[in-house]
Amino acid sequence: MPKNLKHLFGPVPSRRLGRSLGVDLIPFKTCTMDCTFCQLGETPCVVSERGDYVSMQDVLAELNRWLEKDGQADHITLAGSGEPTLHEHFGDVFRWAKEHTDIATVLLTNGTLMHDPDVRADAALANKVKVTLSAWDEISFQQIHRPAQGVTFDLLVKGEQAFRHEYLGELSVEVFIIEGVNSQFSNVRKIAEIVQSLSPDRIDINTVVRPPAVKGISASPEEQLEAIAEIFGPTATITASFKRQGGVSLEISDEALLGLLKRHPATCKQLAAEFNYPADKIFKSLKKFAAVGVLREEVRDGDVYFFSRDKD
Ligand code: SF4
Repeated sequence: MPKNLKHLFGPVPSRRLGRSLGVDLIPFKTCTMDCTFCQLGETPCVVSERGDYVSMQDVLAELNRWLEKDGQADHITLAGSGEPTLHEHFGDVFRWAKEHTDIATVLLTNGTLMHDPDVRADAALANKVKVTLSAWDEISFQQIHRPAQGVTFDLLVKGEQAFRHEYLGELSVEVFIIEGVNSQFSNVRKIAEIVQSLSPDRIDINTVVRPPAVKGISASPEEQLEAIAEIFGPTATITASFKRQGGVSLEISDEALLGLLKRHPATCKQLAAEFNYPADKIFKSLKKFAAVGVLREEVRDGDVYFFSRDKD
């Protein structure tokens, strides 16, 4: 991996995507929503206007450098510390990937801008797209996601439905379950009905496994998630678990580890399970970076989380 990349991180080992090169197009925590469960903390910039949030020329120059120097990844993923479709030219990353590589592309989006035909057209360039749907009406949407003004539940659902109608690639829907907020079976059934209207290829059931933006937001227990997954049907999988999965260890470089923690604070145990890697080796790296002030440690609910100090 070339040094001093501002917009690329990883490749990060991922159970589902293999080695995934992350591309971050949005300044830290600039998003169309301020989700109560967000692992990045509260959103200081809740916006819905699209724009050139970072120079696409710089992003493509970094991708060219990466391709020359390394160029090894199973996926190129638009993700990171904000909502990627806020960038007016996010589709250029997919066009670049198609032109210069045969690596599959992924878009991780909250789906709030899918009502815009331009967003749908560029999103459709990705081989895989994951959208979010965790509410069942406007009140629950506001309560869970605290969206930007003008971003409504109706717009979200209609936009995601329109996208499914047009998109031929693999569509996943992530449903984020918060204990006591949308975990009741009666509400889950309402969410499931809307999710099924998107005919997703897969449904990812997630919960609060990292420190949330708002105190008091908590995870649903695994047995309950299992019962919830059943309501969603056979394409639903629980992705929240950080249990060791078995199989091969996924190597992660120091740079990729720091890039990941900048966007996803985690405990040593979670990282070890995620990468199926010895916890003592990860702990050593984490402590090394904490000692020089690159990472900071914070105890949440009895667990020590490692956060990046770099939010540029
Ligand atoms: S969870 Fe995702 S959509 Fe929600 S505020 Fe955080 S970055 Fe934005």
